Amino acid sequence: MTAHILLADDDPQIINALEEYLQAIGYEVRAVTDGNQALAQFQAEKFQVAILDLFMPGRPGLEIIIFTGYADLDSAIEALRRGAYDYLLKPVPRLESLHALIERALERQRLTQANQEMIAELTAAREALAQQRRLELKRIRQIGEGLSKALNLDQIIELLLDLMWDTLSLSIVGLKLRGWDNLPEKFACRLQEGLDGEIQPRFELWMQEELLAVDWEPLPWKENSSSTKLAEQPIIFRSGILDQTIPALIWAPLWVNQKLVGILGSGRKSILTPEEEEIFKIFVLQTATALKNLALFEQVKNLASKDSLTGLYNRRYFWQALSKEVMRCRRYSCPLALLFLDLDNFKTINDRYGHTVGDKILQELSVRLQDFVRSTDLICRYGGEEFIIMLIQTSKDKAAILAERLRQKISQSPLKINDLEIPLTMSIGVAGLTDQMEPEELVKRADSAMYCAKQSGRNRVMVG
Ligand code: GH3
Ligand code: MG
Ligand code: MG
Repeated sequence: MTAHILLADDDPQIINALEEYLQAIGYEVRAVTDGNQALAQFQAEKFQVAILDLFMPGRPGLEIIIFTGYADLDSAIEALRRGAYDYLLKPVPRLESLHALIERALERQRLTQANQEMIAELTAAREALAQQRRLELKRIRQIGEGLSKALNLDQIIELLLDLMWDTLSLSIVGLKLRGWDNLPEKFACRLQEGLDGEIQPRFELWMQEELLAVDWEPLPWKENSSSTKLAEQPIIFRSGILDQTIPALIWAPLWVNQKLVGILGSGRKSILTPEEEEIFKIFVLQTATALKNLALFEQVKNLASKDSLTGLYNRRYFWQALSKEVMRCRRYSCPLALLFLDLDNFKTINDRYGHTVGDKILQELSVRLQDFVRSTDLICRYGGEEFIIMLIQTSKDKAAILAERLRQKISQSPLKINDLEIPLTMSIGVAGLTDQMEPEELVKRADSAMYCAKQSGRNRVMVG
């Protein structure tokens, strides 16, 4: 682009000489002979360089070269201080040096402009980066907050998959948990809309295989027991292709108290950036922490609701469950029955074999009772050697048949404890829920029926 130059001087001789020269070397020149005209030209046109014999205020993008006589040298120096680019001595400057001066001024202008553009780009990039970082930090806060609040497994899984889905723009994401402690086995997955639904079962199978692989191949840090801290570090594995549409698969094992409890896996078209992998690791850590808290929470809940010797529900929990069940049965008119069990002459057994063997009998019996009932039924250790079985959806008559079958089974197969064969019998009272019956009344009926069984000679079933 041709540089546009404003030439202002009240000496027509100078104007003529310079205008002719500058045009000859290729500049576009606007020549004026007084200050007002110069000002007017500034308004009307855009110049890159102004050669003035008077002081003009500087403007952005304009290089000013001052013309001056010796007498005026001081004001030229002042002009330089205030931003003029250079000065020329009158009467007529050496034209070649004027050309070089203009070119230098234009070069400075170009450099300044390039510099400003670069600064603007840098500022914009820095702002975009800061914005992205703010978003990432917000996500990380949400991950931590959300996952630490959730206190049941399904909630944790839903939230985790939602957050991962929103944060990492994945094609597929899933969590595979093996059952451990009190927590069940689980698989949950999100698949991008439009992808073949067949991918999901293959994804689950892949996760299952990876899960088994971690289990069998000890990881480097697992061999070194002194580096237990490392066990808490999430490790990411990249894997082969599951499907052409999802070539980039990664997964990480989830460790809770040094136990492998499951894996978190994801896939998409492009590989994750290092920043995204870091976020993936945060998800792994937070999920492991959430699962750890959940296991702890379940443990505490268990302590409150289960009997420590037998692992059966305790009396407190039984009453809660019974009240709920009675309400449900009333609403839906379904039957409910209770068996009240009391071991016969257990004091004598304790006296003969010792208290420790007595404890083992109670434990062994609990296992047998659990095997005997359906998973929906509820067994509770009601007292020392007393148990209650809550039979869901069962009439009193059917309960009596079950009770008799149970009594026979126990009395016919002695318990094997420490090479001892200990015969055991029990008395069972049966009661069924009737309209308007309160839970307390139901338990009382079963208890009374059991008492009758004792009175009638033990090792028998009585229906209340
Ligand atoms: P009955 O046929 O009339 O029920 O006689 P029983 O001996 O079973 O009844 P009793 O109520 O006289 O005694 C219950 C016994 O159960 C006394 C107690 O030592 C024993 N027992 C209660 N809880 C436990 C326990 O946790 N461990 C052991 N080993 N024994 C227990
Ligand atoms: Mg008793
Ligand atoms: Mg007893």
